[in-house]
Amino acid sequence: MENIAEYLKLERSQEWREELRKTIKTKDRTEKIRVHMPEQDPDVRNKNSIEVNLGLTEEQALLEAQRCIDCANPTCITGCPVGINIPKFIKKIEAGDFAGAAVVLKETNALPAVCGRVCPQEVQCESQCFYTQKLKKDPVAIGHLERFAADYERNSGKISIPAVAEPNGLKIAVVGSGPSGLTVAGDMAKYGYDVTVFEALHEIGGVLKYGIPEFRLPNDIVDVEIESLKKMGVKFRTNFIVGVTASFEDLMKDGYQAFFVGSGAGLPNFMNIPGENYNGIFSSNEYLTRVNLMRAALEDYDTPVISGKRVAVIGGGNTAMDSVRTAKRLGAERSMIVYRRSRVEMPARVEEVKHAMEEGIEFMNLHSPVEYFADETGRVCRMRLQKMELGAPDASGRRRPVPMEGSEFDVDVDTVVVAVGVSPNPIIPRNLPGLNVTQWGTIVVDKETMQSSIPYIFAGGDIVRGGATVILAMGDGRKAAQGMHKYVQEKVKSN
Ligand SMILES: Cc1cc2nc3c(=O)[nH]c(=O)nc-3n(C[C@H](O)[C@H](O)[C@H](O)COP(=O)(O)OP(=O)(O)OC[C@H]3O[C@@H](n4cnc5c(N)ncnc54)[C@H](O)[C@@H]3O)c2cc1C
Repeated sequence: MENIAEYLKLERSQEWREELRKTIKTKDRTEKIRVHMPEQDPDVRNKNSIEVNLGLTEEQALLEAQRCIDCANPTCITGCPVGINIPKFIKKIEAGDFAGAAVVLKETNALPAVCGRVCPQEVQCESQCFYTQKLKKDPVAIGHLERFAADYERNSGKISIPAVAEPNGLKIAVVGSGPSGLTVAGDMAKYGYDVTVFEALHEIGGVLKYGIPEFRLPNDIVDVEIESLKKMGVKFRTNFIVGVTASFEDLMKDGYQAFFVGSGAGLPNFMNIPGENYNGIFSSNEYLTRVNLMRAALEDYDTPVISGKRVAVIGGGNTAMDSVRTAKRLGAERSMIVYRRSRVEMPARVEEVKHAMEEGIEFMNLHSPVEYFADETGRVCRMRLQKMELGAPDASGRRRPVPMEGSEFDVDVDTVVVAVGVSPNPIIPRNLPGLNVTQWGTIVVDKETMQSSIPYIFAGGDIVRGGATVILAMGDGRKAAQGMHKYVQEKVKSN
């Protein structure tokens, strides 16, 4: 709400904006049809790793921006976990000030080109749009416009770097370089802190780099956003596992005043069914990391990922869709999703499911594996599936899958990717005696400040929520930066 109040106070007074509003009647705006994002042809894209969505043209972006009626109560902002001033950036696009739109986005979002590509806008800002709520029409394509503005700025080569305060000489450590960590780093740099991000892997970006494939989020786009943070003064140390390479105590001795833990939930879950240890059965984390980050899809690589011909991916989330579409691109003749509920309950983004279907992925919904079998070399060659039906809703509110007795049958497979959820890595909690964690290993924090039971440790993203989304991780990062800033300033004053 604070953002809306600020928006109404500061932006309504701008003359150009009022004039703009008068140029087209509201009725004419609401009659416009939502633009369609251009895409690569499914039969072409399922053989390459180039981005599927091609981005709006300038003409399309201008047309779509005109659909926003600039309502008196812009509820879309409340649907955005980082509180982007959505009408403001869209009106900049409408006025042809594309670079200005990108500046507005960066006021509250350090990664607009990423969010414009992977955020589930359909359940966030777009679900709160006037068109969805009141007119029962397709919402303004906020995500497509966000991507357009961010891409325009990047392609123009004139990337705006957010202003940072004078250095205050105080050191802050961020553990993990996923979206939550990058957000904290950017916000703390803006306050004037000396920020270092410690990352266990050799690449910066967390799941944005090692999980989400190039055909949805090219790595060089993430790199450009990281470059902006470097220009703001943020330092990065890769191949550095906090808790192994150095302890929190060591880092405190180096002068770090407070820590943000954004270490994600990178520990894969398995189903613990017979045969799950056979060769050719991967966790989705391993499969995607090897392809995305370790060049394992290339033939000249020493340990290539085996490109299966009959690949089954178990699960119905974004990770499952990314894995099965990757398998297709690596040459699988049959690539299938095996999911124990129906399509309605699938947690993956609607767009990802649609794209997967267009690309020729088979969906075996209401099925679950119960056992795997191997050939004489120890490699998986067959899986036994059981049919499921939906029972009463469970704690998640989704209808519970119930096995159908005697419905088992076998399917030939040579690769299986298990994508049935993730858990937090236990290294950090193990290194912080006294840290409150839940029974699932997630860190307990104050929801407003993101402060943990240890006052100098703040946390957010998947290590707090379990597997969630990029934008929720970023929202946590924003809150944590505010909480941390207050904590450090009070600590300094009291010393
Ligand atoms: C394949 C896949 C697809 C997804 N698709 C989407 C999508 O389309 N849209 C969406 O919104 N969300 C998606 N998600 C979820 C989203 O990516 C995550 O919710 C988000 O990245 C969580 O951010 P985070 O900052 O908590 O941590 P992460 O992105 O998980 O990053 C944590 C980082 O911390 C590092 N780390 C861990 N421990 C240590 C340590 N001790 N020391 C130093 N570094 C450490 C890790 O190496 C990692 O780089 C997807 C997830 C996956 C796996």
